[in-house]
Amino acid sequence: MGFRLANVEGRAVLVVGDHFFDVAEASGGSLPSDPMQALEYGMALRELSANLGGGEPTGALADVRLSAPVPRPRNSLAVGLNYKNHAEESGLPIPDAPMVFCKFPSCITGPTGNVEMRSDYVDFEGELVVVIGKEAKQIAEEDALNYVAGFCIGQDISDRPAQFTSTPPQFNLGKSFDTYGPIGPVLVSPDAIDPDTDLMLTTEVNGEVRQRDSAKDLIFDVPYLIAYLSQILTLYPGDLIFTGTPGGVGVMEGRFLRDGDLIRTTIEGLGSMENRCVRVADHSRASVIPDALKSALANAAKNK
Ligand code: ZN
Repeated sequence: MGFRLANVEGRAVLVVGDHFFDVAEASGGSLPSDPMQALEYGMALRELSANLGGGEPTGALADVRLSAPVPRPRNSLAVGLNYKNHAEESGLPIPDAPMVFCKFPSCITGPTGNVEMRSDYVDFEGELVVVIGKEAKQIAEEDALNYVAGFCIGQDISDRPAQFTSTPPQFNLGKSFDTYGPIGPVLVSPDAIDPDTDLMLTTEVNGEVRQRDSAKDLIFDVPYLIAYLSQILTLYPGDLIFTGTPGGVGVMEGRFLRDGDLIRTTIEGLGSMENRCVRVADHSRASVIPDALKSALANAAKNK
């Protein structure tokens, strides 16, 4: 049931087990090879995926490096404080409306892409990402899942100084540095996910588990978010919604990502992705620690 869509060198492929099939070739040219276009053909991809058995795969996953399954979203939205334990650890009340910001599409990178850090206060946030499959405007909550192409894993990498540097804080830039939006490894259609799964989300840094929670424990769930957002802006195929991160982010312990760290993010049923952290040049305000971050760090030190 369902399908797993990926991106190999800019071409849409269907993943079956350890192998992949080029979508345009396997469909005899009736489906597009551009991953952004292919994800609009959910029904056809389902059919094609079901009929691949016995065919000769295009290649083995072990021999290629996957790119972002959705490489050029028109919009990329994200939700803050969408898990109770993360709102609590942040010392903030449970929100009564989604707290939404943008991860500019230019920050999107693939499931093995390097994270290029430009301060010493860069943090991980493992998240479930929703990929929109068809144009959605003013959609009711009960219809919302019909507009979903699938789900993938995301990291909402965050430069904490940039996130809190202005008054009031404005998250968009701190979360949109180039390479701060790894997604992947594949786009999994909703019907390819075992309905009984807990979608357990784990973020490990160098093998140490730092976040572990069910991606089903959202305060505002996926249908609610689609309904809410689509009242405001039209969602288009390929648009991304990062649904928020559970507790355990580095800032709460005063432990940030370091040069050479390996972030491994896993969601049960969606796979895993691994992103290496590379410390590159400072951005201009990297040494300016905003007061909000100073007090978070003081709290973290106190709680040790
Ligand atoms: Zn986040």
